[in-house]
Amino acid sequence: MQERNMLNWNKVRPTWDEYFMLQAEIAKLRSNCLTRQIGAVIVRDNRQIATGYNGTPPGILNCIDGGCKRCQERMNGKLNSGVNLERCLCTHAEAMQLCNVHYLVMVQALRVQPCIVHLHLV
Ligand SMILES: [Zn+2]
Ligand SMILES: [Zn+2]
Repeated sequence: MQERNMLNWNKVRPTWDEYFMLQAEIAKLRSNCLTRQIGAVIVRDNRQIATGYNGTPPGILNCIDGGCKRCQERMNGKLNSGVNLERCLCTHAEAMQLCNVHYLVMVQALRVQPCIVHLHLV
């Protein structure tokens, strides 16, 4: 995306992809996971259907507050990346979106490929 120039909007207007990636960046700010912060946006026909971010499910103590023991062990250096993922309570961003809507077409995740398991849900 080009530098914002208030005098020439046409040159700074983001593409759809840039626009939705920025939406995902905003959603990422709400992540409550200690180990990794991910945001995602579901888009259909250039309309934003839902956003999501990763973290512990509703009703569970936030990961940043100690809700996920696996993430704590990971942050304390007791686990390597990718180990014991099945013990992680943190829901992936794509799955969190599914809690909000049930009709989906496309996922745009930031910096990471959508998780294969959750891509099947989409
Ligand atoms: Zn976590
Ligand atoms: Zn976790």
